[in-house]
Amino acid sequence: MIPRAWRQGEIAVIGLGASGRAAAELLTRDGLRVYASDASASDGAQRAAAALGRLGASVQTGGHDLARVARAAVVVASPGVPPDAAPLARARSAGLPVVSEIEIGLRYLPEHTRYIAITGTNGKTTTTAMVGHLLRALGLTAVDAGNIGTPLTEIALAATPPAWVSLEVSSFQLHDTPSIAPTVGVLTNLSPDHLDRYPSVEAYYADKALLFASGSASSKWVLNADDRETERMVRSVAAAYPAAATPAGAAWPLRGALDFSLKHRAEAYYDRTSDELVVMGLPLLVRRKLALFGDHNVANALAASLAVMAADASHTTPVSRAQIAAGLESFRALPHRLESVGEVGGVLWINDSKATNVSSTLVAIEGMTRPTVLLLGGRHKGEPYTALAEPLRRTGRAVIAYGEAGPIVARDLEGVVPLFQLGSDFEAVMAKARSLAQPGDVVLLSPACSSYDMFANYAERGATFRRLAMQGAGS
Ligand code: ADP
Repeated sequence: MIPRAWRQGEIAVIGLGASGRAAAELLTRDGLRVYASDASASDGAQRAAAALGRLGASVQTGGHDLARVARAAVVVASPGVPPDAAPLARARSAGLPVVSEIEIGLRYLPEHTRYIAITGTNGKTTTTAMVGHLLRALGLTAVDAGNIGTPLTEIALAATPPAWVSLEVSSFQLHDTPSIAPTVGVLTNLSPDHLDRYPSVEAYYADKALLFASGSASSKWVLNADDRETERMVRSVAAAYPAAATPAGAAWPLRGALDFSLKHRAEAYYDRTSDELVVMGLPLLVRRKLALFGDHNVANALAASLAVMAADASHTTPVSRAQIAAGLESFRALPHRLESVGEVGGVLWINDSKATNVSSTLVAIEGMTRPTVLLLGGRHKGEPYTALAEPLRRTGRAVIAYGEAGPIVARDLEGVVPLFQLGSDFEAVMAKARSLAQPGDVVLLSPACSSYDMFANYAERGATFRRLAMQGAGS
């Protein structure tokens, strides 16, 4: 539902990327007055502005009218706009509500559309894609939306919205999505991240905890039983929302909590002895049937299957379980996430460009079973790399430290395995990797850093890795 005040005033949409554009379109089509602006005057922004202008929205590219933004009834922030950008700072200082594009999408989703919301530090996109894939394997109409790519407002605009949405939400989106109340909320794991954008790790975790803030009595929560930070957060959430707390002595202090574990029995767990994923008391799938590297992907698969089964009792029948198992088996790694690019001269090249923090690189190295040449570097995000030393001692052939973070990586990992510090020429990095790797080895791009010092984004970095790796195939 849209508050009356929003209908009476003007809605400022900041940013004309895919999300801002879809939100502005939805609001304009619903008869609301919209002012949509973008700091850039790129072709994309101008095309979006022209399309919205035709629908009747006021549009501006190449800058924002801050005084106009400050008079808005509500401000909608696109995910790409940093929270300290001038129009958002102005809106906040004027005391205006600032909401995410997802908040708008949720308010417009038809009642019959239910959603599973997925957040966490790592594994969000993989788990979101798996949840969507499993729902479709059950024969349901389901789309993947939110931070994974498709704006939620685009789904809400569709002539026939799906029965289910698998919704990825980042901490930044949670910050501005007060209506979030999923049928099932999944918290994959928690570790420090985004320290370049948050004043402290506590501030980052506080945004993640907003996943639980508007849950109802029937909400289910899928939680990582192996993660200390999750446990701590859930305890503080239960203390903050006494109505959601369970009696003392319950496994989790939060009503509707279900857990997954790689280490011990839980609602969904990995039984190492039988090599099976066991979900809700019954074996679901033998692990080797999962076409994904690493234990962390077993955790993602456990979380996704548990979420889908928790979403509706009808998903736990033997037929549904068989469909979910078949869905897990047919799921393939997403691009840039431990994606096998190809094998050249006995060397396997793996693109994990999406690993932009130390914890995701850690699980990537732990998932390697062959000697590994690790490409590590890019723009430093604030965390030390020392946590990588131990798994590197086991499988590391060498580390190539490159980009802006190169000197910090070199300082943190000096002496652990042979380490080569290179500059910011990625072709040189790849040539060095080729010269170090021996037949039977892996070359792994899992950089633990953002890409912005050398590339437009992680996808461009991964695509460059793939292209250069496969160039070697012809030579
Ligand atoms: P996100 O959307 O949270 O960034 P992705 O699914 O895109 O997560 O995966 C990003 C990277 O994080 C992967 O390349 C992998 O190295 C790592 N990763 C994925 N799942 C997990 C997990 N459950 N725990 C820890 N690291 C993970």
